[in-house]
Amino acid sequence: MVGNTFGIICHGGAGVLRDPEAAAAGLGEALRASYALLRQSGAAVDAVVEAVRVMEDNPLFNCGTGSAPTYDGRTEMDAAVMTQTGEFGGVLAISRVRNPVLVARKVMTETDHHLLAGEGAVGFARKCGFEDHDPMTEGARERLARLLAAGESPFFSLEKVRKYGTVGAVAIDRRGRLAVATSTGGITGRLAGRVGDSGIPGAGTWAAPSGAVSCTGHGEAILRLMLARDIADRMKTMPASVAMTLALAEARRRKFEVGAVGMDARAGFAFGHTTPDMSYGYMIAERLFLFTDGKDRKKAT
Ligand code: ASP
Repeated sequence: MVGNTFGIICHGGAGVLRDPEAAAAGLGEALRASYALLRQSGAAVDAVVEAVRVMEDNPLFNCGTGSAPTYDGRTEMDAAVMTQTGEFGGVLAISRVRNPVLVARKVMTETDHHLLAGEGAVGFARKCGFEDHDPMTEGARERLARLLAAGESPFFSLEKVRKYGTVGAVAIDRRGRLAVATSTGGITGRLAGRVGDSGIPGAGTWAAPSGAVSCTGHGEAILRLMLARDIADRMKTMPASVAMTLALAEARRRKFEVGAVGMDARAGFAFGHTTPDMSYGYMIAERLFLFTDGKDRKKAT
């Protein structure tokens, strides 16, 4: 740990970006809100949940409101939160809630379980007071209609899946604690009931004393690599950026379309993707950095 350095890194999904300017604006909003908590000595876990909550409410991102529908037009979302001490909560294929990440956090803090799925997850959310909310948007409906009109099968091929948009955040607080949160609407046109990597510990979301990582991209590939855990494990012996580079080299060799952001215990940031693009940004030492469309979008103090 380096003194009381604190900071946060977020991604807004890997793949081809629909609207890079809007992605940068949305990431900036999430980073500012979560960094403010860290500045006030907030916990890393509060910061990552806040960052993801803000992006879940932004229909641009594929999570919460604006989530990608299944082949038969349902919204099923996965989300998870984890701390470096191994506390974990996740929801899988949850529907009709506004903020899956907040439900995931309740699973972590209010139950002895780690994962709740489907109707059980919705029932738990209602017991916790989360109201009924339809996350479907016109844009998500149109994307599904275009896919169906093109005759795509729900057993989609990897080459055709280029738009992701899952969100994730990794933070370190003033006390050197790491945490991560990830939230997704899945992939447009998948089979109902399909669960991706985002809510699965070790796959899309992982935190340990060595480092914390949130992934995006083709969920099945990330599951096979157990990518978040792989990157965090590598951080035991090398800086975050080297760990990321080596793990993604293996993904690239296998032609997997993935991306990730992470941070090690020394507040070293890392980001990378094998997809054409990924939107991401970070805030550290009062400075905000945003990257989309392969460009450094904006540097602000
Ligand atoms: N990883 C997500 C999934 O496969 C998709 C994404 O990153 O947008 O469900």
